[in-house]
Amino acid sequence: MGNETTIIGDYLGTIEEFVPGEGTYSDDGKIYASNIGRAILDPENHTARVDGKFPSELKIGQVVFGDILNIRKNIVTIIARKIQGVKGKIDVRTGIYVSNISDGYVERPEDMFGIGDIVKGKVIKIESGMIDLSTKGEFGVVKAFCKRCRYPLVESEKFEGKLVCPSCGHREQRKIAKDYGNVAVI
Ligand SMILES: [Zn+2]
Repeated sequence: MGNETTIIGDYLGTIEEFVPGEGTYSDDGKIYASNIGRAILDPENHTARVDGKFPSELKIGQVVFGDILNIRKNIVTIIARKIQGVKGKIDVRTGIYVSNISDGYVERPEDMFGIGDIVKGKVIKIESGMIDLSTKGEFGVVKAFCKRCRYPLVESEKFEGKLVCPSCGHREQRKIAKDYGNVAVI
């Protein structure tokens, strides 16, 4: 793979082949693109990076809305769709490390999020081609979908902090935002 355009999550190689550089991330020994851009793979120097662009208005502390693309044991990947204070169409990959999900200890990120859920997070770090979000405190999922039937979940009246599916009755858990269900989203 030469100097080709990558999309987020594209497989670039292994950590035995390359040192993961800007615009990439590694997981389980494999390197993936963390941004849309040109993949620069250099087998001689064993480096892999992606030249991508972030919106120039992007700042620490900005509120981001996006949807969950995948959930791994250390990182949850979110495609940011809307960033507070940033105009225009947004389509950048962001991540939440497991330690930034909640104020409490999270063992399994898949217990906190579901694929396709809409999340409200805060930018806490921008470096090396990665945007890190946090969902600690008031942040979290603002719209979640039933893992069984995909129907939007509502907050349970009986069990605090739990969500329930009005369609099939499935009860689920999420790291929910303070304003769950009350956010007009993307
Ligand atoms: Zn359901």
